[in-house]
Amino acid sequence: MKKIAFCNQKGGVAKTTSAINIAAYLALHGKETLLIDLDPQANATSGVGINKREITHSVYNVLHEHIPVDTAITPTDIEKLKIIPSSISLTGAEVELVNVMGREYRLKKALQEMKASFDYVIFDCPPSLGLLTINGLAAADSVIIPIQCEYYALEGLSQLMQTLDLIRDNLNESLFIEGVLMTLADYRTNLTKEVISEVRKYFGDKVYDSIIPRTVKLTEAPGFGKPIAIYDPASIGAKKYENVVKEMLGIKDVVEKEEDTSEKELCPEPVLNKGDDTNGNQECGKETGQGA
Ligand code: ADP
Ligand code: MG
Repeated sequence: MKKIAFCNQKGGVAKTTSAINIAAYLALHGKETLLIDLDPQANATSGVGINKREITHSVYNVLHEHIPVDTAITPTDIEKLKIIPSSISLTGAEVELVNVMGREYRLKKALQEMKASFDYVIFDCPPSLGLLTINGLAAADSVIIPIQCEYYALEGLSQLMQTLDLIRDNLNESLFIEGVLMTLADYRTNLTKEVISEVRKYFGDKVYDSIIPRTVKLTEAPGFGKPIAIYDPASIGAKKYENVVKEMLGIKDVVEKEEDTSEKELCPEPVLNKGDDTNGNQECGKETGQGA
C-alpha cells in the first residue's frame, strides 16, 4: 500500500484537482485506490460526486472520535476508487486535537487498523501546515508537491522543505518526495516556461514530464462531481493527468510536447501583473469553482 500526500501550504496550486484526477486514473489503471480528503473545505469530496450534506462518517469521525476507519470508506462512480470524505466539522479538528495524545499519528494509526486493502492511498491536504497536514505527512510514505506556474511559485517552497525536514526528524524519517507536478501552465506566457525551468533546476528529475495546462474543462469537472477521466476523457487535461499516472506506474510511453496544449480548451489568456499579489488563476479558477 503506497500512501502519498498531496501537499503545498499554498492554496490554489491544484492540490485537490491533482489528487482527485490522479486517484481516478490510478483506479482506472486497475489500482485499488483510496482518496482521503483532509481539507475541511471538502472539495475533493464533492469533486468525486459525494454530497457534503449526506455524509455520515467522515475523516473527522476517524481522527477525532476514533471510529473504525473502514466504516468511513465510501464508494464513488469509479469502481476501484473509494473516498473517506471530509466534512465541515474537520475545521474544529485542528484545535480539538491539540491536547490529544499522539495527535500527529491519528491518521497513521487509523490506517494501520484498516481492514480493507488498497494499492494507493492519496491524501488531499489543506492549504496550511497545521495538524491535519501533519497527520497526512506522518502517515504518508511520500509527497507529491503541486506547483502552480506563476510568479512567486518558489516562494514558500523553502518553508515546505523545512517542514518536510522537521517531519523526517521527528515523525516520519522515511518520508520522501515522490514527485513535483507543475500545474496551471500556460505556454502563451514566457512566465510558464521560466517557472518550469526554475523548478527543474531546484528539483531535478523529481519533476514529472507531464505538465498540467490551465484548461476550462479541468475547472468545470468538479462542478459536476466528476473526475476529468469521466467528465471529458478526450480533453487535454485528462490526457496530461493520465500521463502523470503512467509516469507514476512506470508505463509512460508518450513524449510530452508543450504544443499539445495550444488548443481551444485553454482558459482565456491570464492578465499577468507582476506587482499584483493575487493569483493569476482566478479568471479560470475560482469563478466557476465548486465553492467553498
Ligand atoms: P488547491 O487544492 O491547491 O487549493 P484546487 O485544486 O482547488 O487547488 O484548484 C484551485 C482552483 O483552480 C480551482 O477552482 C480549480 O478548479 C482550478 N484549477 C485547478 N487546476 C486547473 C487547471 N489545470 N486548469 C484550470 N483550472 C484549474
Ligand atoms: Mg484543495
